[in-house]
Amino acid sequence: MPKPGELTFVAPRGAKKPPRHLADLTPAERKDAVAAIGEKPFRAKQLSQHYFARFAHDPAEWTDIPAASRERLAGELLPELMTVVRHISCDDDTTRKTLWRLHDGTLVESVLMRYPDRVTMCISSQAGCGMNCPFCATGQAGLDRNLSTAEIVHQIVEGMRDLRDGAFGGSAGPSPEGADGPGGPARLSNIVFMGMGEPLANYNRVVGAIRRLTDPEPDGLGLSQRGITVSTVGLVPAMLRFADEGFKCRLAVSLHAPDDELRDTLVPVNTRWKVREVLDAAWEYGEKSGRRISIEYALIRDINDQAWRGDLLGRLLKGRRVHVNLIPLNPTPGSKWTASRPEDEKAFIEAIAAHGVPVTVRDTRGQEIDGACGQLAAAER
Ligand code: SAH
Repeated sequence: MPKPGELTFVAPRGAKKPPRHLADLTPAERKDAVAAIGEKPFRAKQLSQHYFARFAHDPAEWTDIPAASRERLAGELLPELMTVVRHISCDDDTTRKTLWRLHDGTLVESVLMRYPDRVTMCISSQAGCGMNCPFCATGQAGLDRNLSTAEIVHQIVEGMRDLRDGAFGGSAGPSPEGADGPGGPARLSNIVFMGMGEPLANYNRVVGAIRRLTDPEPDGLGLSQRGITVSTVGLVPAMLRFADEGFKCRLAVSLHAPDDELRDTLVPVNTRWKVREVLDAAWEYGEKSGRRISIEYALIRDINDQAWRGDLLGRLLKGRRVHVNLIPLNPTPGSKWTASRPEDEKAFIEAIAAHGVPVTVRDTRGQEIDGACGQLAAAER
């Protein structure tokens, strides 16, 4: 019997294991790994300092470590995990999407978005996805494999390094707090697991990544749990397990329909865990984390955008600590579906708001760079 959260819906297509990396290991495991190659255990802390606090990947920069040890430590604990296939920018250079190639040729995507008051990075937790949602580009291609903890963390380390160095971003508009000027260096404030993959189907590695991201420097990157959002299709056992981790992360639930009949088709895993069970698990997470739940709802013209469905959604959520995020559908190539008409969107919002449930429409960054989940990797394939 698989443990909750370890459920695999589509068998990964037999890829080679990613190389072991510093970011896969707990601080204690790092010491053991360093000792195992005959280096002094305190080198583990030095390596962590270089990787997590200084983003210094080049052994030549590790001047506090004898030259003879640098290459050995780098080879053992900091193997190359991924290379940039390309960056694509838009929205006045405030949005940048990156296509990565992993060691075995697998492709994944991440996106950096710079706003006046914050910087958000959207990262992938799996190569491909096994959840098969028909409106999602990643869902169409199936699951390649789980990403390792380090492959998840490294997307962020690279993003943070480019932000620190002012290598990305924002020829226009004011800079985030603490920045030196428009387009200058900036700090990452938010991370969303809304790139490729279902994070709770890669449970242990995602939880490991959250620890690396939020452990204080130099054990980890020292980011705030409150700034991290984990988005799920609604894998109920894994949601309940996640509630017991004691994290203060935000949980987003991709609902997309308030009724089981329609949700069975839009989010196929709904045939296993129904709307009611998914919401109950979300409320439990909300209780334990003290965080308000986000409900994600992609508005699809004439499919799920009827005012009566907005009313039903409002009734399900009424009185809860919740916020509805409406996402205008970003049509995938060849899809017969498209975004809602403005008047239908308006009526849908009003139907939800009538129940006193807070609702906003998500801004749609990156449309001209195939911003929708999985589109860039699909085009490359
Ligand atoms: N597997 C997770 C996280 C990845 S997708 C999940 O499903 O929650 C992040 C969000 O983007 C999800 O709410 C997903 O349903 C939505 N999404 C995927 N494709 C989309 C599209 N073409 N248009 C709008 N939203 C989309």
